[in-house]
Amino acid sequence: VQGFSGQKVAVLGLGRSGLATARALAAGGAEPCLWDDSPEARDNAAAQGFALTDLTRSDAWHGVAALIVSPGIPHLYPEPNKLIARAMEAGVPVDNDIGLFFRSWATPDWEKMERTPKVVAVTGSNGKSTTTALIHHILKEAGRPTQMAGNIGRGVLDIEPGQDGEVVVLELSSYQTELARALTPDIAVFTNLSPDHLDRHGGKGGYFAAKRRLFAEGGPDRAVIGVDEVEGRFLANQMAEGAADDRVIRISSGQKLDGEGWSVFARKGFLAEWRKGRQVAAIDLREVGGLPGAHNHQNACAAYAAARTLGLAPKEIEKALHSFAGLPHRSQLVGERGGVRFVNDSKATNVDSAAKALQAFPKIRWIAGGLGKDGGIAGLVPYLNSVVKAYLIGHSARDFALELGQTPHEICETMERAVARAAEEAEAGEVVLLAPAAASFDQYPNFEKRGEDFTALVQALP
Ligand code: ADP
Repeated sequence: VQGFSGQKVAVLGLGRSGLATARALAAGGAEPCLWDDSPEARDNAAAQGFALTDLTRSDAWHGVAALIVSPGIPHLYPEPNKLIARAMEAGVPVDNDIGLFFRSWATPDWEKMERTPKVVAVTGSNGKSTTTALIHHILKEAGRPTQMAGNIGRGVLDIEPGQDGEVVVLELSSYQTELARALTPDIAVFTNLSPDHLDRHGGKGGYFAAKRRLFAEGGPDRAVIGVDEVEGRFLANQMAEGAADDRVIRISSGQKLDGEGWSVFARKGFLAEWRKGRQVAAIDLREVGGLPGAHNHQNACAAYAAARTLGLAPKEIEKALHSFAGLPHRSQLVGERGGVRFVNDSKATNVDSAAKALQAFPKIRWIAGGLGKDGGIAGLVPYLNSVVKAYLIGHSARDFALELGQTPHEICETMERAVARAAEEAEAGEVVLLAPAAASFDQYPNFEKRGEDFTALVQALP
């Protein structure tokens, strides 16, 4: 990171991105001052050789050029963060690693212009990781140099400036977009919007506002926007107003978008690209194994559109879609036995993503529950037709049982019992689906561990 040589920069939050930030600042000649409210995180950083600075001291902000905040730390809601408030009162600019990334090497620097990569940033409520990984995969298959970072796998400051013509694909959550002082992707992708993390953003308006920052005045050269919700339609219209007719690509899962602009939509298992009222290309998605379900067809549209803005041909993209294996814990086929398929969608932590999973298969033995979110699973009632029976686990099992009413269900408490019971009762042609509609923290450290547990239990079945 350039621009802070010889200056003190405070880093709050010492998880993966905080430590990557500290390393990048030090490499640029800055003096990072590291702190975390959690003693374990501080010990862990110290064990890795990082020096700590107590930012709770009243004189801590003297001579500090900036405060870099980790995305995991809420700054305003549900409670204002005291340290961040104090830094702001002391006149210290607050930013995060994403802001540093855009300011230091994604912003055109005329001297090394050729090395400045193109940046694609993906946001939205669901489908971010899948879309990000898919764009990265398509570019790689087409022989374009590309790196992927952000909310997926690697921190943005862990990647090195790349080669000529490189495309950096970033997944950005609302936690990351809300504070970044610079957000200047060349191409911005907005998949969809459904309520999630609302307490952190002070309601749906704050949540949308955080995501919208990627599309601010001036904004990206190209925008790929899901228009299946009112917010996306608004954003697309706003971006298109007075702009060249290839600035916005509207995408949809379900709607036929055959108007004057540029669009990519999926209907009845086919992806279609339309431009100026004419169909340009079509792809049969039913043959694309790594992307099952209408929700994944939306992701395919988003990735296809982003790849088109980067100059790839429809045929090249189609070929790459076929070789995409999908991401772990997202509609991932983890076993098959006696005609019963076992699908791990542990990442379905909210009602919206679970609703998509329930619509992706016709006959489901559904494993659900965990740490339920506000509103429980009331929002899933319209999607229960495909559920043959539910096997409920975790803290929310009894609450979920109440919502299920007439839908057959059984309280299993643990994953082990749920997998055993579902496997025992499932018949050929059915899918045993883990799509919890709840967070994992009551029984697991994270959704990955929950998905791994499910997978291991399935693989150990007799
Ligand atoms: P994110 O990174 O936004 O959380 P993922 O690609 O990791 O998105 O998918 C998260 C969950 O949402 C998965 O359980 C998946 O089945 C579901 N999902 C994926 N894509 C979509 C989509 N376009 N719309 C709704 N749900 C989706």
